[in-house]
Amino acid sequence: MMDIDELYQNVILDHSKRPRNFGELPPPAAKGEGYNPSCGDEVTVFLNKSAAHTVEQIRFTGQACAICMASVSLMTTQLKGKSVADALKLKESFIEFLTKEVEPPAGLGNLMALGGVKKFPQRLKCATLGWHALSRALEQ
Ligand code: ZN
Repeated sequence: MMDIDELYQNVILDHSKRPRNFGELPPPAAKGEGYNPSCGDEVTVFLNKSAAHTVEQIRFTGQACAICMASVSLMTTQLKGKSVADALKLKESFIEFLTKEVEPPAGLGNLMALGGVKKFPQRLKCATLGWHALSRALEQ
């Protein structure tokens, strides 16, 4: 049987090798960019909101390390259909999970796989880059 660390490693590998929702959305989709010079990660998040402020479509492009790719890919799988407020709440929960010694907040799902980053603070920017790009796209 796989232990939980192994399971989480498989989730990260899977999403970094076969990122979900990878590709652009044509204008007028909102767009948010992120660049992490310490690792060379570059991502652009594209999204379309409905009139009721829910995330209708979300995609991303970029070149990034496995942690960054997996984090953005997992993010896109969780945000479709969520309200803008809930998307921002998930971002806060996720960053809190990675930066504070707290019980994992509810609702993170497979994002828990990135918990290993806690042991490598220099990789924190990799794991959060896509989320900052998301905020920029949501603000538009
Ligand atoms: Zn990186």
